[in-house]
Amino acid sequence: MNMQRTLLFVKPDGVRRKLVGEIISRCERKGWRLVGMKMMQVTREHAERHYAEHKGKGFFEGLIEYVTGGPIVAMVWEGNDIIPILRMMMGATNPVNAQPGTIRGDFANDFTQNIVHGSDSPESAAREIPLFFADEELHGD
Ligand code: UDP
Ligand code: MG
Repeated sequence: MNMQRTLLFVKPDGVRRKLVGEIISRCERKGWRLVGMKMMQVTREHAERHYAEHKGKGFFEGLIEYVTGGPIVAMVWEGNDIIPILRMMMGATNPVNAQPGTIRGDFANDFTQNIVHGSDSPESAAREIPLFFADEELHGD
């Protein structure tokens, strides 16, 4: 077993479109364990820290506007190899490549407004989770 934790958040368009339950349901049906969850408004400073790797790219400003444009639902999930598996279940960032059956393939048709964020590596998860959750907000076994 390779138990991992990952940061998953439903982006503002996912909340607006009432897809929170759908996304939680997919994770629960997969057998993963919910470790933390909260609805929150991300500030510009917080968004810029989270997406620091993209600073300077053409889409950065639009991305920050989008992700701060309404509340998100942030979660930490735990499961065996959850980081790469969730990324597969999310589907590709580019809507042209997001396969049917994935979250983005089923629900998104825009490069920016794409419903979900999921950590892309153990290093990213370790950096991102504390940006959203204090230790005492995470509930282990
Ligand atoms: N994004 C965008 N245009 C791009 C690439 C990314 O608007 O050309 C947005 C999109 O919302 C994406 C986020 O920036 O989810 C972060 O980009 P990344 O490449 O890290 O994609 P992800 O890891 O979310 O699949
Ligand atoms: Mg990414």
